[in-house]
Amino acid sequence: MTPGKHGKHTFSPQEFNTRMDNCGLSLKMKDCLNRVVAFHSSPAPGVLIGSFMVDLALELLGAVPGEKLYGVCETPKCAPDALQVIANITTGNNRLRIIPIGKFAMTVNAATTNPTAEAVRVYIDLEKLKRYPVIDTWYANSPAFDKPTMAIQLQEEIFRAGRDILSFERVRVGVSGKRQWKSLTCPCCGDTIPDYLFEQDRCGGCGSMKYYEKIS
Ligand SMILES: [Zn+2]
Repeated sequence: MTPGKHGKHTFSPQEFNTRMDNCGLSLKMKDCLNRVVAFHSSPAPGVLIGSFMVDLALELLGAVPGEKLYGVCETPKCAPDALQVIANITTGNNRLRIIPIGKFAMTVNAATTNPTAEAVRVYIDLEKLKRYPVIDTWYANSPAFDKPTMAIQLQEEIFRAGRDILSFERVRVGVSGKRQWKSLTCPCCGDTIPDYLFEQDRCGGCGSMKYYEKIS
């Protein structure tokens, strides 16, 4: 095992593929996982589980390749990348909403012109997780999870479990239509921003969202 140069998790693409083969993953799932891992730059457990979640959600929705889909991810960690790569639900195309609730769960729905959409919410099922002690220990962020010695075991358990640690529910989500806007000039910095982002008398960069100080 060579220490990973690809992010913080140990990663040799060859070994990764052999491991997926040994755990009986389908060609389709292997392709998904390889693409997501390359995008994420490491085979973090969360992106692996997230990939199985997206795969399940797409199947439940009966989504066809290339279909315009929307998603909500309940954690900013790892799982959003699976939605971005597998389902083209991205932050840039504004179809991905991240609500940092801290649950490993996601909701996916097809495009609609209605004010609400029927969606499927896929989540890690804590009851089912009990059958997979290594994933369970990792997910609980327990001190019993020793990353250097258990990372491979964890990966194998995730591959073997696949969807078996997931559950889903049918839910309804609100749909926000395209917003009309006009350009407004901030009196503090002189830049223009959409009017609906104005904070009383200034832009967010001069207001509550200021995040840098000039150094020259
Ligand atoms: Zn400003």
